[in-house]
Amino acid sequence: MILAEHLHANSEYSMVIEALQTSRLANGEAENSNCPESFLSPRQDCKRRHGSNGTIATPYDENCTNEHMVGVSSRDATEDIDTNIQPDVVFKKARVQRELTLQDMYNQDSFDDDDEDDSDWEPMQKHFEIMKWFCTNCTMVNLDDVVHCDICGEHKESGILRHGFFASPSSQDGPTDVELEFKGKYKDMQSGVSFSNRCTAIGFDERMLLHSEVEMKPRPHPERPDRLRAIAASLATAGIFPGRCHPISAREITREELKMVFSSENLMPRSIAMGVNLTLTVECLSYFTPDTYANEHSARAARLAAGLCADLASTILSGRAKNGFALVRPPGHHAGVSQAMGFCLHNNAAVAALAALAAGAKKVLIVDWDVHHGNGTQEIFERNKSVLYISLHRHEGGRFYPGTGAANEVGIDGAEGYCVNVPWNRGGVGDNDYVFAFQNVVLPIASEFDPDFTIISAGFDAARGDPLGCCDVTPAGYAQMTHMLNALSGGKLLVILEGGYNLRSISSSATSVIKVLLGENPGCELGDSAPSKSGLVTVLEVLKIQMNFWPSLASRFTELQSLWEIYAAENKSEESISELFLIV
Ligand SMILES: [Zn+2]
Ligand SMILES: [Zn+2]
Repeated sequence: MILAEHLHANSEYSMVIEALQTSRLANGEAENSNCPESFLSPRQDCKRRHGSNGTIATPYDENCTNEHMVGVSSRDATEDIDTNIQPDVVFKKARVQRELTLQDMYNQDSFDDDDEDDSDWEPMQKHFEIMKWFCTNCTMVNLDDVVHCDICGEHKESGILRHGFFASPSSQDGPTDVELEFKGKYKDMQSGVSFSNRCTAIGFDERMLLHSEVEMKPRPHPERPDRLRAIAASLATAGIFPGRCHPISAREITREELKMVFSSENLMPRSIAMGVNLTLTVECLSYFTPDTYANEHSARAARLAAGLCADLASTILSGRAKNGFALVRPPGHHAGVSQAMGFCLHNNAAVAALAALAAGAKKVLIVDWDVHHGNGTQEIFERNKSVLYISLHRHEGGRFYPGTGAANEVGIDGAEGYCVNVPWNRGGVGDNDYVFAFQNVVLPIASEFDPDFTIISAGFDAARGDPLGCCDVTPAGYAQMTHMLNALSGGKLLVILEGGYNLRSISSSATSVIKVLLGENPGCELGDSAPSKSGLVTVLEVLKIQMNFWPSLASRFTELQSLWEIYAAENKSEESISELFLIV
């Protein structure tokens, strides 16, 4: 068996290929060339069965949900598996369910491949030569005989790292007409803008690209340097950065500074301490958890990310910039008081919030729209009434990673109500449900809290096409949510990148968000959108709990509850729920 495809000249991909050759041969995995379907992940298989239109849209499907469940019992697992799957496959899948990591779930198909009892394996099959390539956009493994990714439709030789999401998904490299138009439009603005209280600041440093996985797995790690490359290429192509935004100088956060920042809460997250110590022991490469890697550059990358976030917070709070976007990695919102996990090393949002408090803010709001619950951020602030943490995420009864973030997790030790969780009970959640939750939960509570600084933990893995999140939020949806939050805290808003693993989705979404920061209109109005049935149920659940702490929610709960009773009594269809809201 030979795996060979040189998508990029860059060494990371070469290393992936090399490692793939080694690992696949070493574990004797069967490469059944007679059955191309055997290479498909459950999601690929699903897409083939349900038809592929070659677009990047990956709407919710049952297999998608199953991939991202955590700690599922055998019974739960089988219930979530497509009923078309044969019983022996169901058994095999149920058997591998355990406390899965984020990466485990991403590589669910690899779990099956690595099964020691894989009776499909036949030694003779190693003589077949199978050519594969990794999709730059979504990392999916594709057979060499296809030119477009089977999952997302991206071209095998995509130009997304050079031209961002302006690169045509269907053709090789090369800018599109749209890109050329943008370049002409903004060619006079490439010299950059000066710092002013009206500018949008961007935090970025190329050294954060050096944080990458060393021990190569059968598929590239989803949290990869290309994420930042694709966003940066998109912003450059659009003439936004460099051009319309002001870069802030990168700086590594210091240990002393971290101690000072965290001493206000008597907290010194161990992950941060470990990150700092890594500079002294960089000889050994390590994994904090099976899915959270560190190489010799990771500690510096993490310190740069935290330093940029801290400086952006103080820059905005002092009025030297209007708002800002932290284009940083590794992400942070899973990193808590005592652990680095879920691809996260330092909790960048927490560092920024505490830096804002140190710089004079009295109340900081963190809104986390990453598709995963920010368990680390919640843990750090769950006793803190100065920081209101609101998270919207897939939860599904605790089966979606990381398993925390139920609606009844509201804060502890006198800070009840300062943690607000909006836990979706399914995948496929889209703009309508997010905007509805913003209108009925996020903004009413945030307005009552009245923050003087707002942070968005902006993962874009709830975006349409994301291979981990399997939700359906569009760039317009993210722009709308940013616009709504921009009305708080006098527009003092810092957006920090968290997750998001489809390059086209994250770069178009991030660009839409930054355009709103620059003062552009968010575009299409999503204000009249009605929620889905399950979205309404979730919002009602949250209101019922949180109105005990935020009195202004009571009338809203009563109103929505009566609507729900009408809907339930008449046993209306899912579609008719929008009629109900239009009447109102
Ligand atoms: Zn793809
Ligand atoms: Zn996430």
